[in-house]
Amino acid sequence: MCKKFSHNYCYNLSSYQNAPLYLSETYLRLCIVIIPQLLCQLLYNFYVMKKILVSECLYGGRVVRYDGGDVPLLDPVFLKWKEEERLIPVCPEVFGGLPTPRADAQRKGDGVFTGAGADVTAAFRAGAEEALRLAVAEDVCFCIMKADSPSCGSKKVYDGTFTGNKVPGQGLAVEMLRNAGFTVFDESDMDEASALLAKLESE
Ligand code: SF4
Repeated sequence: MCKKFSHNYCYNLSSYQNAPLYLSETYLRLCIVIIPQLLCQLLYNFYVMKKILVSECLYGGRVVRYDGGDVPLLDPVFLKWKEEERLIPVCPEVFGGLPTPRADAQRKGDGVFTGAGADVTAAFRAGAEEALRLAVAEDVCFCIMKADSPSCGSKKVYDGTFTGNKVPGQGLAVEMLRNAGFTVFDESDMDEASALLAKLESE
């Protein structure tokens, strides 16, 4: 009995000692390098990295625009931020329950109407509220929203006549974000956005 045990023990010990070196090296690498790195990355992403709210059609990869397309922003800095997972994509109109594709709509005063005259203000407002809720929940440092949209435009919007004419103004979601104190850029403002992020991260 004792001999058998001793034999098995020696056999097991020898198997362990002869285990392929890469197994113990992989285990050590996992414990000493990979897991701590992953934990640090998670903590950094969660507590330190500044997040940015972006229009989902600029983020790309999901069909959200009224015309069934998207307009992914290919600016290298934007793509780097995307890779760093600091971008929070939102589509206020989809959040508001509107289908894709959907009727083109434009702001007219405080409301939003389709070309056929349907009042879609309630859906736009509900989606804008959800985008704002996410901006607050994710503690974003600023927003980059699609130019000219009745939800996401930040400088100009179409004038409500469906003739292609734009007037100074902002979309409903941007209006809510700004009223809540968020800075909003559009896709042509990447230099300014980049400078602001660098300033915020150096503080
Ligand atoms: S609501 Fe904003 S995010 Fe959604 S498709 Fe229009 S511009 Fe893009």
